[in-house]
Amino acid sequence: MTHPARMHEVSDETTAIVDLVLDYSRNRLLSSDTPLDKPLPPAELARLAGRTIGEEGIGARKAISVFEHVLAPACISTDDPQYLSFIPSAPSKAAAAFDVVVSASALYGGSWLEGAGAVHAENEVLRWLAAEFGLPASAGGVFVQGGTLGNLSALVAARALRQAQDSALRQAQEPAGGARPDRWRVVCSAEAHSSIASAARVMDVDVVAVPAGDDGVLRADAVAAALAEHGDSVFAVVATAGSTNFGIVDDLAGIAALKADYDFWLHVDGAYGLAAALSPRTRHLFAGVEHADSLVVDPHKWLFAPFDACALIYRDPELGRRAHTQHAEYLDTLTETSDWSPSDYAAHLTRRARGLPLWFSLATYGAGAYREAITASVDLAARIADEIERRPDLTLVRRPQLGVVVFERDGWAKADYDAWSSRLLDGQHAFVVPSSHRGRTNARFAILNPRTTFEHLTAILDTMA
Ligand SMILES: *Cc1c(COP(=O)(O)O)cnc(C)c1O
Repeated sequence: MTHPARMHEVSDETTAIVDLVLDYSRNRLLSSDTPLDKPLPPAELARLAGRTIGEEGIGARKAISVFEHVLAPACISTDDPQYLSFIPSAPSKAAAAFDVVVSASALYGGSWLEGAGAVHAENEVLRWLAAEFGLPASAGGVFVQGGTLGNLSALVAARALRQAQDSALRQAQEPAGGARPDRWRVVCSAEAHSSIASAARVMDVDVVAVPAGDDGVLRADAVAAALAEHGDSVFAVVATAGSTNFGIVDDLAGIAALKADYDFWLHVDGAYGLAAALSPRTRHLFAGVEHADSLVVDPHKWLFAPFDACALIYRDPELGRRAHTQHAEYLDTLTETSDWSPSDYAAHLTRRARGLPLWFSLATYGAGAYREAITASVDLAARIADEIERRPDLTLVRRPQLGVVVFERDGWAKADYDAWSSRLLDGQHAFVVPSSHRGRTNARFAILNPRTTFEHLTAILDTMA
C-alpha cells in the first residue's frame, strides 16, 4: 500500500505528531529548571541514541524521546544564566516562542513577491535599528545568518563599489595610469573578530591588523598611519563596536573623521556590542557610528533573539543590492522589478524570515524593555569587576565597557584554568571557558543574560579560591 502524502496531509497521525512537538516546545519554553547540560563523547552518544534512521521510521514518540532524553541533554543550554562563555544567547520568551510560528508558517523571506508581509516587518526592525544608530531613513539591509556572513557581505559591497569607481576612472581617463593595486586591503584592529580575517580569505584580500591601545581601543592615529602607508589599496576600514574578547568599542568618531582625508568604506562590526547603543548608560561609547557605510549587529547575541540572526545595514542599500543580486532566467520575475527583496543584499538567496522573532518580541515588549535589560547587564559587569578588584587573588585585566569581564587568578597556569572550567561544567555549576590575552590565560565572563545575578558570579569566583 503506497501513501505518498502520508507525511504532508492532516490526519490523526500528523495531529499526534504536532501535539507531541508543541507540547515539548511549550514545556521547554516555560521551564525554569532546564539543566545546563554538557556534551558526551561521540561513542557514548552513539550508544545511548541507538540507530534512529532506517527504511521504516521509529515514530514521533520514540524519536522525540531520544531527543528529550539523549540528544538535548548533550547540548549545553545556551540560555542558562550561568552560561558565561563566548557570547551567550538569551532569547526573550516572546522571540523564542515566535520562532515556532515562523517555522510553522512556511514563510519565504527572500523576496517581496513571496514574503511581503514578513519582509515588511523585518524592514521595520531594520529601520528602527538604523535610526537608533543615527543612520538616515534611507538606510536598509537584511537579516543574515550571522555576523560572519554580515561582515563578508558588507566587505564585498565595499570592494565592489571601489572596483566600480576605479573602472569608471580608467574609462574616463587614458588607460595609461594603471592605478589598480596588486592587492586590495582591509584595515582593522588587531583585536577585531576572526570573521574579518575569514572574509578576507574568502575575498582573497589582505588584512592590515592595526594595534589597539593598551585599553583595547583602536584609535584614529593608528588607522591614519595604516591608511597613509597602504594608500588607495585600502577599500575598507572595519571598526569594532564591542570586541568579542573584551567588549571594548573602537574610537568610531575619530576613525570616521578620517574619511575627510582618505577614501574608504567604514564598516562597523557591532555583532556583539552595538546592541548596547540602545542603553542610555553606554550609548555615548558609540558616537560616530552614524557615519558608518555599513554595520552589523547580531540579534542572536544582545538583542535577545534565537539563533541565527545578524542585522546587516547599509547606509546606501543600493550599493549592497548592486554587489549581491543574483541574475538568472529563473529569477527574472524577481529581479526585473523594483521590489525590495532581502536576497539581494547579501551573499545568499533562499532565506528564512529570521528577523521575525525579534520583530515579534520588540512589538510585544517595546524597545524600553530592551534598554532596561541591556543596561542591567552593563551594570552587573561593572559591579562584578569591582568585586574582582577587591578580591586579593584576582586581577582584572581591563576595566569593562560593556558586558565582558576578563580577569586572572594569580598564580594559575593554563592547566589550572582548564581544570577549573571542566569542574564547573562537570558539576553543572557554570559554563565558563578560559580565554587568553597576549599569551596569558585568563577567565572571562560574558554577561548578557538578564537572569544572571551577582550571586551567580560571586559563587563562581568562590570556586577559584
Ligand atoms: C560574534 C561576532 C562575530 C561573528 O558573528 P557570528 O554571528 O558568530 O557569525 C563578528 N564580530 C564580532 C565582534 C562578534 O562578537
